[in-house]
Amino acid sequence: MSSRIILIGPPGAGKGTQAARLSEALGVPAISTGDIFRANVAGETELGRTAKRYMDAGEYVPDEVTNSMVADRLAQEDAAEGFLLDGYPRTAAQVTELDSMLEARSHSLDHVVELTADTDEVVGRLLARASLQGRSDDTEDVIRHRLDVYAEQTQPLTDLYAERGLLRRVDGLGEVEEITARILAAIGR
Ligand code: AMP
Repeated sequence: MSSRIILIGPPGAGKGTQAARLSEALGVPAISTGDIFRANVAGETELGRTAKRYMDAGEYVPDEVTNSMVADRLAQEDAAEGFLLDGYPRTAAQVTELDSMLEARSHSLDHVVELTADTDEVVGRLLARASLQGRSDDTEDVIRHRLDVYAEQTQPLTDLYAERGLLRRVDGLGEVEEITARILAAIGR
């Protein structure tokens, strides 16, 4: 059974935590665009320098940059049988680009899992993470801005995937294990 899955949801909904657990359960790689950008920032690559400006401001990195990075990653062998995309696509242009990447290999998406969480809850979680991890985009102003950008540019993508019959909405509030179980049930695994 192929597992080509997108995890979508506001910053702080727990996508990264769930992606790691689902990756284990399903045997496909978790691919987080945020993690790849952060690795490039840490490694002081050209891509990292470009991405950092946008990340620190809570803005999306331009589509061309993000799309080509994802194309490279999906072309790697471990993603041939499936993947969990955490944090991509986030814009309508990224949806289109992902469609053509998959089409070129005669592949298609199996599920789009939307992790829902209310704003006050995610702001609280992100502030807690900020003090633990010291991420430079986890200050309260930037957090609020990231949530606005999400509402404006990414939330509408769920309607599009719902129209395609791919959307599985899962309550992101609760114990980590419980949420993993909910997601697995929602995707029939
Ligand atoms: P995340 O760890 O998924 O919250 O991503 C952290 C930051 O990386 C975001 O606030 C964006 O600046 C950037 N980023 C991650 N994924 C994308 C994407 N698909 N498109 C544009 N920017 C992204």
